[in-house]
Amino acid sequence: MNNNFTAEIVIGLEIHVQLNTKTKLFCGCPSQGSSEPNTRCCPICLGHPGSRPVLNKEALQLAAKFCLAVHSNLASQLIFSRKSYFYPDMSKNFQITQFEEPLGAGGKIFLKSGKEIGLIRAHLEEDPASLSYPLSMKQSSYCLIDYNRSGNPLIEIVTRPELASPEEARDFLNQLISILTYLKIFDVNNGIIKADANISIRESGYIRVEIKNITGFKELEAALISEIARQKQLASEGKKIQQETRGWDSNTNTTHLMRTKETEADYGYIIEPDLPIIDIDTEFKEKLQLEIPELAQEKIKRYIRTYQLDPVDAEVMAMELELAELFEKVIAQVKPQLAAKWMRKELLRVLNYNKKSIRDLKFNELELIELLTLIEHHKISDTTAQKIIEELMVKAFSPKEYVAKNKLEQISDDSELRQFCRKIISENKTAVEDYKSGNDKSLNFLVGQVMKLSKGKASPQMVSELMKEIIK
Ligand SMILES: [Zn+2]
Repeated sequence: MNNNFTAEIVIGLEIHVQLNTKTKLFCGCPSQGSSEPNTRCCPICLGHPGSRPVLNKEALQLAAKFCLAVHSNLASQLIFSRKSYFYPDMSKNFQITQFEEPLGAGGKIFLKSGKEIGLIRAHLEEDPASLSYPLSMKQSSYCLIDYNRSGNPLIEIVTRPELASPEEARDFLNQLISILTYLKIFDVNNGIIKADANISIRESGYIRVEIKNITGFKELEAALISEIARQKQLASEGKKIQQETRGWDSNTNTTHLMRTKETEADYGYIIEPDLPIIDIDTEFKEKLQLEIPELAQEKIKRYIRTYQLDPVDAEVMAMELELAELFEKVIAQVKPQLAAKWMRKELLRVLNYNKKSIRDLKFNELELIELLTLIEHHKISDTTAQKIIEELMVKAFSPKEYVAKNKLEQISDDSELRQFCRKIISENKTAVEDYKSGNDKSLNFLVGQVMKLSKGKASPQMVSELMKEIIK
């Protein structure tokens, strides 16, 4: 089943993703909205005796879409089961999930490197309530329960243990989020995504330790690094590693023992008697299949093949749906390589600096096309273009009008530039001599001086060529 057991480190993930539906999985309560505790609840999601769950069709569609997109085999029947457990986060003392036959079996997701990570299953289940403690979990004498989350639709995605490092696990999560946002089944800003990780190392004979409830990319990577270090330390001391479940504490960057591992049999699964078994027919499947868009990994290949993009540019343009959409609008009118280069190096630089994302942009493709056209036709210098991108973060305006109004058009007048070059040559005799005797850095210095003199409005390439010609 698993050919990875020669690897130094073996990691498998179970990821819970909140599906972006309007209402909860088995009742009509809103799945998002008021954060006031216990205001989005009804007898069904509170588990009152006698209340009956009714399946939210939208949740089934979103989950099935995911299965099809990752080439998972869609089950022909939707069967729910009760997973019995006693804990205040699930007031009916069981969780409705899928056990016998998951919605999707198998499937695969590709990492950035091209490595294929197999999926074991993907299934639908309801989210439990959230618990909060006035102090830490151990120090508190009581806990508070908020049932707003209880009954939210989740898709649980279980990978094969085929990830070989914390970096690969982080990349997997990245690829997964890209797929989820492309499919529009997950709200990246408000939705919850949590991972449980199984980790084992060669030295212990691959005894699995599970870490529960890790949120976010950085947390996942940090938790794995910490747990691998703990296991290696134990192994080096000749101590035995226990099969157990551990919790992750991001404050101390350590994992701690929660319980020694229970097995699936301990949960006493039974088929959910209150929900009918639903047939998933070919028509449903074919209709959903048509709604699956070209995903990031396919886009990357197409961008490289069709536009000869640099592979890094292609990846950056494709991974995020909103950026890819903007890029594709822009390249209808601007050279793709130039657009990709500017969008990756400058647009994203400025966004990152301002801690903003593509959706926060105050301008749209029209302003960007105008700006990139000015660059493409050498009307403005790179420095001017950079400045305009920074200004566009504050408010939208027409780059063309801005350049005209502020007289920022690049000096393409040969004679004016020649004058500047002669002036700098006469003022920097030593640098000129250095360049003549083979020091290319001196040329850069001289070009820099001309750029300064032109207030950044000259083209550095043009100045460099004129400089060489005049010195000759
Ligand atoms: Zn409800």
